[in-house]
Amino acid sequence: MPVNIAIDGPAGAGKSTIAKAAAKALGYIYVDTGALYRAAALTMIENGISPSDRVSVAVKLSALPDGFFALKYIDGVQHVFAGGKDVSDKIRTPEVSMGASAVSAHPEMRKFLFDLQKKIAAENNIIMDGRDIGTVVLPDADVKIYLTASAEERAKRRLKELAEKPDCPSYEEVLADIKQRDYNDMHRDIAPLKQAEDAVVADTSNVNLDGAIKLVMDIISDKLAHK
Ligand code: C5P
Repeated sequence: MPVNIAIDGPAGAGKSTIAKAAAKALGYIYVDTGALYRAAALTMIENGISPSDRVSVAVKLSALPDGFFALKYIDGVQHVFAGGKDVSDKIRTPEVSMGASAVSAHPEMRKFLFDLQKKIAAENNIIMDGRDIGTVVLPDADVKIYLTASAEERAKRRLKELAEKPDCPSYEEVLADIKQRDYNDMHRDIAPLKQAEDAVVADTSNVNLDGAIKLVMDIISDKLAHK
């Protein structure tokens, strides 16, 4: 049986950076499920559909062919495809972030991506990150971690990442965005962001990146050693 490690937590907690580093150290595949919701949001936006319009999103999804959204690993790096096109770069905009948060609240959307996530986890040793991995997608995961940090600390980190880009938003805008996404993700009816009962909490507010990676690696080693 492949080893499945689930990491959930709010936007900007460092899930992807930490999970990527841990996956590399363990020789596992890192699966960023947020990229799938982002690719779905981008597809809706490009087709003139509002990501919050549940009915139109559901109609569009039912018209998409099998395998429309796909994850592929090129030199160990995850790439996300929508309709055969690599959209890995296009999905990292504030508009798509908000769109992903909106689109992911629809049950039809979550159902659409569920099997794909399950299949990857059934076939590989993985670290999968998202919002509902430990609670819904992989309830039997070998290790569950809930990675979090204060909203202010997460906004500061996000701002650093965005600093290089043109039209970089202000700290206040990034913080408001993060708080809005937290609210959306935690209050939706289906698969809301919450800590799984058997998850270990890792709060990275007061540790640097190396410290956070060590924290997560220690939790994983400890859990796997007691399996
Ligand atoms: O993790 P990331 O910020 O890329 O995710 C984008 C959005 O996709 C999140 O705000 C969340 O609403 C949604 N998402 C989700 N379930 C997941 C992963 C992401 O609802 N497993």
